Amino acid sequence: MLIDVDLDLVRKYDRPGPRYTSYPTAPHFSDAFSLGDWETHINTSNETAARPLSLYFHIPFCNRLCWFCACSMIVSRSSEPMKKYLATLHREVKLYASRMNPNRKVVQIHFGGGTPTHMTPDQIREVGTMIHDTFQVAEDAEISIEMDPRGLTEEHILALRDVGFNRASVGIQDFDPKVQKAINRVHDAELVGRVLDWIRTAGFNSLNLDLIYGLPHQTIASFEDTLEQIIAFEPDRLAVFSYAHVPWIKTHQKLILPQDMPAPEEKLRILKYIIETLTTRGYDYIGMDHFAKSEDELAVAQREGSLQRNFQGYSTWAGTDIQAFGMSSISQLPRAYAQHTKNLELWHSAVDAGRLPLERGVALSEEDAERRHIIMRLMCDMGMNYAQLSEDLGYDVRDRFRTEFESLDTFEEDGLLSRSESGIEITSVGRLFIRNIAMTFDAYLEQGQERFSQTV
Ligand code: SF4
Repeated sequence: MLIDVDLDLVRKYDRPGPRYTSYPTAPHFSDAFSLGDWETHINTSNETAARPLSLYFHIPFCNRLCWFCACSMIVSRSSEPMKKYLATLHREVKLYASRMNPNRKVVQIHFGGGTPTHMTPDQIREVGTMIHDTFQVAEDAEISIEMDPRGLTEEHILALRDVGFNRASVGIQDFDPKVQKAINRVHDAELVGRVLDWIRTAGFNSLNLDLIYGLPHQTIASFEDTLEQIIAFEPDRLAVFSYAHVPWIKTHQKLILPQDMPAPEEKLRILKYIIETLTTRGYDYIGMDHFAKSEDELAVAQREGSLQRNFQGYSTWAGTDIQAFGMSSISQLPRAYAQHTKNLELWHSAVDAGRLPLERGVALSEEDAERRHIIMRLMCDMGMNYAQLSEDLGYDVRDRFRTEFESLDTFEEDGLLSRSESGIEITSVGRLFIRNIAMTFDAYLEQGQERFSQTV
């Protein structure tokens, strides 16, 4: 895929904007969403066993802080906080399980963080067994985990396989020593190679590697070396995230000096280089920031128009509810999002008192749900089919959102999309600005802008 991008577009469109892993987006969750509201949504979603479940487990601890980090994490080198956390997590699972329809099938489980592999191999076995004892996990469930290669042992990998994990996602970010030093995350390709060998030998079905562009000292030349090493590892999938610099929210990001960061134009050139390289080396470009081998389920889902987007990025599972566990984690039910408290002590005390540790959330109105559908189809399909969308929503979508569709003119003039009688197609340049295009349909955009990273 060749991309002919006019760098003036960067200056025009580089502004704060959401990544649309949800709609409404997290800054619009509120504490007006009560425990009673949350219980009602849980009950409604459990009236039928037909809706499959996706479980998310948040494990917040990390050995040390990466300065680019935007996750909800806690630095801890002691084993006590993890022990205590897992005991509370067990109790939290029981609290939710008692409210859930026991016949619902779990088709997907994901462990994120933090660093989930901060757990010991024995703790991994205990948590895995607890999940299988509590829920009906489908035989072919996707069970994935985010891994930090530093501190991983072969015993971790074997324990993960023993309790059914079959997908691994390894955080690399960049191999350049200068970049690694500037982000306080140092590991070499040899270590990663060893970890990937263990993962493959243990029989994981799928391997994803995470990279970040827009980090300090990155240039096309420096990233070229990283990308070549990554391609040589032959991952099934790659997630290539844009560095979100939000030091007013994540104050440790102030350790990353603005003068070391690539300018927006250079950042876009790096992204263009990544896309052009990967798409000529056997990978399909998926959505906004993922790549997958053409035969991978993610690539197939994109071709078939069934790709989904949620808090974990892009997924192939449509119609599943996401039930989240652990501090700060976010659940997604058909008409609500709910987030647990981000305060570790409050999370422990709520669960110990037998309360769901809700901090905030949002119930979706009819219009929210409709706008979410439009935004998610755009983010996944890189286009819109008017007839399909109108059928999905039960009315003429162009008629209902006339103002929004009219304001797409400027994107068309800039070559970011093309329109026909049947729909809209995002151009290869337009994909780089898909967040800006999706923002057209966001009714909450004017509130909470300061919470978002730049779109480029
Ligand atoms: S390992 Fe991940 S969660 Fe932990 S500090 Fe680094 S980026 Fe953040």
